[in-house]
Parts: sequence; C-alpha cells; structure tokens
Amino acid sequence: MQYVSTRGHSATPSFSEILLGGLAPDGGLYLPQQYPQVSGAELDQWRSLSYADLAYQVLRKFATDIPESDLKALAHKTYGADVYCNARSGDDASQITPLRTLEHKDGNKLVLQALSNGPTLAFKDMAMQLLGNLFEYALARKGAELNIVGATSGDTGSAAEYAMRGKQGIRVFMLSPHRKMSAFQTAQMFSLQDPNIFNIAVEGVFDDCQDIVKAISNDLDYKAAQKIGTVNSINWARVVAQVVYYFRGYLAATDSNDQKVSFTVPSGNFGNICAGHIARMMGLPIDKLVVATNENDVLDEFFRTGVYRVRKSAETYHTSSPSMDISKASNFERFVYDLLGRDSVRVKALFDKVENAGGFDLTGKPGSDGDEFASVIKYGFASGRSTHDDRLATIRFVQENYGITVDTHTADGIKVARENLTPGVTMIVLETALPAKFNETIREALGRDADRPAGFENIESLAQRFEVMPAQADRIKAYVAQHTGL
Ligand SMILES: *Cc1c(COP(=O)(O)O)cnc(C)c1O
Repeated sequence: MQYVSTRGHSATPSFSEILLGGLAPDGGLYLPQQYPQVSGAELDQWRSLSYADLAYQVLRKFATDIPESDLKALAHKTYGADVYCNARSGDDASQITPLRTLEHKDGNKLVLQALSNGPTLAFKDMAMQLLGNLFEYALARKGAELNIVGATSGDTGSAAEYAMRGKQGIRVFMLSPHRKMSAFQTAQMFSLQDPNIFNIAVEGVFDDCQDIVKAISNDLDYKAAQKIGTVNSINWARVVAQVVYYFRGYLAATDSNDQKVSFTVPSGNFGNICAGHIARMMGLPIDKLVVATNENDVLDEFFRTGVYRVRKSAETYHTSSPSMDISKASNFERFVYDLLGRDSVRVKALFDKVENAGGFDLTGKPGSDGDEFASVIKYGFASGRSTHDDRLATIRFVQENYGITVDTHTADGIKVARENLTPGVTMIVLETALPAKFNETIREALGRDADRPAGFENIESLAQRFEVMPAQADRIKAYVAQHTGL
C-alpha cells in the first residue's frame, strides 16, 4: 500500500514513511492510492472478533510494511480492557466501544457508541493510544528519537500525554494557556509525573501557544536539530485507528450485512468523520454520515450550501462544546480530494484559494469553483448544527428520558441525529467525551455535578508538575533544547 498527497506530490511513500510526519511536502494530506476493500465474507468473519483483533484486521490493510505479527501485538497492547476501564456502570469495558440503545420506536433506533472510556475520557484516546505504541515501535526500529511539540486548549494535549508517557525515545512538550483550562483538564495534564512529559503553561491565550508551535515548525534548522514532530489530527495513523470503530459499531448494531446504519459525529476538524467516510469507501454498508457542528458551523454550512468559508480567529466562538471550536477543518481536504475525483491539481487550487481568499464554492453557479456539491449526496453526507440552548435542552432530554448524562459534544450529536433519522435504519451517535470533563455545563443543564469515573474523584488535589513561561518562541525553544540535550 502506497500513499499519495492530495496536492499531487510525486512521491508515493509507505505507511511507516508517513507515520511520524504530518503534511506531505507540498502541503497536502496523505491518503492511500486506493482504498482497500472489505468483502461481505470478511465482514462476516469480523463479527466475532475482539476489538483488538478487528483493529489488527483493519490496520493490516493500511500498514502493509509493518510485519503482521508486530502489528497484531501492537493492536493487542493498545486495545485491552485495562486501558478502556472508565466505562460507565452497566457498560462492558471489554467491548472497548460499547453500544447503548437510547430509543427504539416507530422503526427508529438511536444508539450511542462510547468512544470515551480511555485514560483521558475523550475519543481522542482511541487513536492517540495506538499512535503512542506505533511511534515507540517505529523509533526503536530506526534507533531514533522524537520530541513532540504541541499546543492544546484541553482534549488533544492530555490524550497525547497519556499516550506518550513513559514511551522510549519520545518526549512531549505541551503548551497550554496559563490558567485558562478547566481545573479538571489542568489536573489531568499537570499531575503527570513522567520525566518524558513537559507541561509548559504559557502566559497568554491558546492562539499564542499555537503561534509558538508554528514558529518552531517554520524554523527548519531548529526542527531538524531538535528532532521535532507533532501529533495533530491530520496524522494519517490517527485517521486509520478511527476507521476501526466504525466497523465495530456497524457489526455490533447489525446481524446481517444486508442492514445499513447511519452515524452522527460531533465534528470539528473533520478527523473523526473522515474515518467514517473511509470506512464507507472500503465497503462498510453506511447509509448516512451526519456531521454535527456547534455554533462554529463551517462544515454545516458547506454540507447545506456547497460553499466552504473558513472563519477568522475573531469570528470563532468559544462555546460549551469547546473541542469543536474551529475556524477551519484541517481534515476536510481529504474528503474534497475524493469528491473531486482525486484531481490533485484542482484540490491544490481550491486550498490555495482557502489561504488567499478564505474559501471556495462548489455550487456550480456562475463564477463558482466547480459543481461537485451535487455529488456530495452520493457519499452519504448530511449535516446540522447545535447551539448552547440546544445542548442544554438535549442534556436534560436524554437525562429525563433515558437516565443517562451525556457530555456537551455528544449532546450536539444527539440533537442533530434526531433531525436525521431514517425509518428502519439504526442511527449510531458517537459519544466523544464523558460529561465529567465538561462539568460546568452539566451543572447548568441539570443543577448537579456529573458523575466521575472511579479514580478521578480527587484529581484536582494531586501534585502538579508544570513550568510557567512567557509567550516568547525563543524562550520556549531554548527550554526545549535544554531538555532534549540535543
Ligand atoms: C476533538 C473532539 C471532537 C471533534 O473531532 P474532530 O475529529 O476534530 O472532528 C469532538 N468532541 C470531542 C470531545 C473532541 O475532543
């Protein structure tokens, strides 16, 4: 299996060659040359597999340059019940992503698939835990080391740190805005005592952190000398790891391949739902893929109108589903590449236009950039948006009717899913976080605290390890260099 850049760069690297990197050299994103196909007979065999064995079966179609026995061991190391032990009472942790039926009436079935039972209580663990093990394995094979520098406002940073803690050959330097994260999120990250994890609390806002990471990435000499890498959501291995739970959700919700299911996905950077698109392209019988956004509705706007219009930072709202607060969707280019019949010249022109003119238009109207919006429907996509009031109402509705507390992002998904039901087709909503992470809004909706999984009761009182630093790229570069010893 070889990979291509969405913008047409001539090299066709293997899985291992793109594993530790991010963007392709031409600024594009990697995708496989062709999507591997899954036959009906294979799907039937996969029905009885454990999550780890299913992950192995999916991974081996994409990571063809890693020996199969190694891949199998990595899948088992990653997807064990001990890692996903934060399942709510009544759920079976050994299922890794257990399903729970909310509603079953008038031929409509609404199901939640829990992706947030990992160490940081959000779906990013599903992919990041695999990435940690793959990175350690690949670095050991090359005798190399990697220093990950990232910026976080919450979920991504903690998922990365819990995935990389204690890993050989890897250090993590995570920048976060000083005193701007919730007490719970701060405690999750800063209580880690592993010597390869460095928390840097930057005196500034999230954008300052991101600017510093960009400045480091743009300093190519420094980046090479310090062996700097990233783990952002465009990383191809993260997307592949996410493909697995679409198969799992489908297989757990059906008993024959003649049945179809739909998925609704609380979306920000389009990473999660992009994996659903890939599963569908591999032959998984998915009816609809429903994009749910919050007030930051760049994606909902595209899927309703055919116009992709990225927002400026000042137009990006801080919402109560903060992990979906984006101004542009960094994985969207992967879908556009398929939508345009894999025409990399046009993809490059469109995304150059995003940089220069803030977006593009595929409505086919005079002066537009193409007419492919008409074919979006063939890929099963639909969309909807949810606001703070919708979120509160949905959290209350789900609590009152089903006795389950859902987090704010999942609530956005349920709200939009209920508007997109098709009779006779099971709708699976991906649960992307546990409510304990977003307790302020749970209190607002329900007038009480969200339950915390065992072991998280006193997390705010644990000793914290972090360095406060000014928002100056040079100071942070020096700090990193001092701790890598390179
Ligand atoms: C990251 C995140 C999302 C958005 O996922 P994308 O892959 O960026 O679309 C949704 N919900 C939660 C809780 C998240 O952490």
